[in-house]
Amino acid sequence: MDLRIAHLYPDLMSIYGDRGNVIALEQRARWRGIDVETRSYTAGDAFDVDWPDLLFFGGGQDQGQDVVGEDLQGPNGDALRRAVAGGAAVLAICGGYQLLGHEYVPETGPAIPGLGVLDVTTRAGKRRFVGNLVVRAVGPDLPGMICVLRATLVGFENHSGRTYLGPAARPLGRVLVGHGNNGEDKTEGAVQGKIVGCYIHGSLLPKNTWLADQMLTWALVRRHGEVTLAPLDDTAEAAAHAAAIKVARSRP
Ligand code: GLN
Repeated sequence: MDLRIAHLYPDLMSIYGDRGNVIALEQRARWRGIDVETRSYTAGDAFDVDWPDLLFFGGGQDQGQDVVGEDLQGPNGDALRRAVAGGAAVLAICGGYQLLGHEYVPETGPAIPGLGVLDVTTRAGKRRFVGNLVVRAVGPDLPGMICVLRATLVGFENHSGRTYLGPAARPLGRVLVGHGNNGEDKTEGAVQGKIVGCYIHGSLLPKNTWLADQMLTWALVRRHGEVTLAPLDDTAEAAAHAAAIKVARSRP
């Protein structure tokens, strides 16, 4: 088996260690003997619709989102929508998550239209949500998710955006520590088909390995049919997860 990862806008949308998610996906695939190729695409590049199995879209400042938003209004936007319709899995963090939705309205400046592949809308608030974030995943009532019952996710958040879910999107989890989507409804993130968006930086996947394996499984299905990933020894990752939750709970 081989895996193709497209890293979207790494020069404009990769803050707070988000690139670590690509490294984690590559390494967890390679540890299972799966060849991996990662290609980067940025504004103005011609996006290859049929190539990627998995799209990664990191976070970014409002300024970067402006440039990316414009690029998404062009042929790359259509190409990304077709790649998603063609079965590519998507993981998006913070600013990338916001731009998968209908629009992101920053505190200053015009609204930035999003890709519209995730039924969410984001509006900036006056106060930034900054700090540790712990989430209880709402699986297994998320169709097709191999979520471990009552699994948790941990990392940190830094955003002004408040995200609200429409009927087609399901929350990824419930907030235990932190603000999450909007600091009001206790939801965090969104899942729709094989698209996962969330506000968890850190980077997310190295210490939340069940979600990494979920994304890999969804990505590999596209060209390889049903796959069951061999378990890995996640002792270190589990310890990092537990330690991060302890810190987050000690400093709510
Ligand atoms: N600029 C967006 C916001 O402030 C996203 C920030 C981020 O990606 N960390 O909400």
